[in-house]
Amino acid sequence: MKNLMISVSGVRGIIGDGLTPNVAMQFAQAYGSEFGPGKIVVGRDSRLSGPMVQHAIWSGLMSVGCDIIDLDIATTPTTEIITEHSEHSGGIIITASHNPKEWNALKLLAPDGLFLDKEQGEKILARIEKEDFNFVRWDQLGTITRYKGAAQEHIDRILSLDVIDTAKIRNRKFKVVVDCCNGAGGVILPDLLSQLGCETIFINPEPNGLFPRSPEPVPANLGELIKTVKENKADLGIAVDPDVDRLALVSEHGNPLGEEYTLAMVTRFILAKKPGSVVVNASTTQAIDDIASKFGQKVVRTPVGEINVALKAREISAVISGEGNGGVMFPDLHIGRDAPVGIALILQFLSEENKPISQLYKELPQYFMIKDKVSLSFGTDAKAIVEKLRKQNINETIDETDGLKFLYERSWVHIRASNTEPIIRVIAEAPDAKKAQNLVETFKQKIMVANK
Ligand code: MG
Repeated sequence: MKNLMISVSGVRGIIGDGLTPNVAMQFAQAYGSEFGPGKIVVGRDSRLSGPMVQHAIWSGLMSVGCDIIDLDIATTPTTEIITEHSEHSGGIIITASHNPKEWNALKLLAPDGLFLDKEQGEKILARIEKEDFNFVRWDQLGTITRYKGAAQEHIDRILSLDVIDTAKIRNRKFKVVVDCCNGAGGVILPDLLSQLGCETIFINPEPNGLFPRSPEPVPANLGELIKTVKENKADLGIAVDPDVDRLALVSEHGNPLGEEYTLAMVTRFILAKKPGSVVVNASTTQAIDDIASKFGQKVVRTPVGEINVALKAREISAVISGEGNGGVMFPDLHIGRDAPVGIALILQFLSEENKPISQLYKELPQYFMIKDKVSLSFGTDAKAIVEKLRKQNINETIDETDGLKFLYERSWVHIRASNTEPIIRVIAEAPDAKKAQNLVETFKQKIMVANK
């Protein structure tokens, strides 16, 4: 089917045109057969298709004897934390993250709350292929239990982190504007911020799945947030994606800092407190390297994909990790991208430094990143095009951690075939916008020539 993308990390598709209840149920049957029997945590974002997919998942899991711990609407990091911290056999998140509202997807978790690795994912796909499901008898079917305390459990774990001084943040009475894009943020961020003593103004807080704008928290989509921050003279603007694993910040002047600077700012805060290694993906801003070297720490880069960053962060006990797209992973809490913990860390940084966020931003190394892509017709072998470019450019300095990253003096361009869509991503970073734009244009041209 055209609008269905199956990979080792799960399945993603357009509702009514690819992602059907049957597809979701088969994944749940395979997943439950592999990781069950036992308790499986199931959470979903706020999409209109959520209840349909949720019921298919429930059916599939119950049929193979798994008991469901139903979080209903919950953020991705909340579901990961609940999966990790109790006697659960696994977890399934129903969310298409930042994709438009007609999409939905399943993200499959291992019992430790991390996404499935390649080997685990391949076992699920093999079971679907062979219809190898452990169906149980009528009197052994799974049950459903609703757990309403998930969001507060997540908040409690954030507020009890040793780097968070709740009283100090509460004292500052920050005024914060938050845009939840009518995603899952509405079920946790009002409580988190009120427990941190913030005065809040919420935009699009209803978790009803009717995204009023394009749901990716990139500057082009944050017009209403920017305007509201300025009108209300707020200290900070916050935007999250529909499943709340990505965080973007807007300064008190209404300037979007860009998603790369969420992790850069958190890294600056954490390394000053807790010296240690940093793990980020290959596309993340080089501001991270500059910050780490200032604190005498090393940065390890991994292929793009949350599980790659997570596994490396766990392996080397990183103190901070994540992805430049606003994905903060703070391993003291859990090794998954988590916007709520990112918000708490930023508020802690603001209270300790006693400077406006625009000033803290200015003190960070300044780079300009452009993220672009070349769309290919369906079925094009994007990886073959990337390989062709590699052979054509053997004399360049190329980092092959993931795709091709051409390295230059204080700038780079990263070419990578997407794992989930028929596109090649082109990302460039340089000290100024013009240079970054030139790099993007040059390489988009090279890709189009290679595709002929
Ligand atoms: Mg997301």
